[in-house]
Amino acid sequence: MSDIGNNAGTVDAGDTRTHELRGRLARVRDRIAEATIAAGRVEGPRLIVVTKFYPAADVRRLAGLGVEDVGESRDQEASGKAAELVELPLRWHFIGQLQSNKAKSVARYAHSVHSIDRPQLADALAKAVALEQEQGGRSPLECFVQVNLDDDADGHRGGALPSDVGMLADKIESAASLHLAGVMAVAPLGGDPDAAFEKLAGIAAQLRASHPHATGISAGMSQDLEAAVRFGATHLRIGSDILGSRPAVG
Ligand SMILES: *Cc1c(COP(=O)(O)O)cnc(C)c1O
Repeated sequence: MSDIGNNAGTVDAGDTRTHELRGRLARVRDRIAEATIAAGRVEGPRLIVVTKFYPAADVRRLAGLGVEDVGESRDQEASGKAAELVELPLRWHFIGQLQSNKAKSVARYAHSVHSIDRPQLADALAKAVALEQEQGGRSPLECFVQVNLDDDADGHRGGALPSDVGMLADKIESAASLHLAGVMAVAPLGGDPDAAFEKLAGIAAQLRASHPHATGISAGMSQDLEAAVRFGATHLRIGSDILGSRPAVG
């Protein structure tokens, strides 16, 4: 068993868990490199290691292994870890569904939010980040519009309808404290990831036509990173293939 419950304060670079994470991280990096070459791409995507459900000690281990970007999906968990690890040079990416009343908290630690799916959330984040900027300075929040790729409208994995992406992009662009990074999606469960990410690539291209700097495509998880790289993902969000499997919820 892994010693994932360890205190985050001290991490021995030679411990069993660090060894395990090093191996898993190397295998994922190899997969990304192979997929990048296979896609004929010059530049590979950025790897965001999704650390939800795993303790701050693991995030510290990953930072020691060269990880610079971590992803979290619940504010309570993320804010605690970010506070505990504040001295580490990490970028925290918020990737889960987000209630507007959590915007203030997220604005304190997040480099980016990948899950903007409604105008009220963009408004709340704009206000909260602007306040942080007044009080001590922080860079604008990188914002991805999350798109629902399910064909049936009641898709349960979150996201705005493709037809609402332009409106949300304009909303983000109108706020000085927010920076429009691009689009994000989760491939529908049980569907063909190639079809999903091809659709997302089309939506991203359409967005770039009106917002040329919004070049980000956040797509690809442990199961489907190769498909995501094939269709132009610039940010991968990989959890279980690096950290291990999680409880079913979340
Ligand atoms: C948990 C999560 C991931 C990571 O998924 P894995 O299958 O563990 O790689 C990526 N994106 C989102 C939005 C998530 O919630």
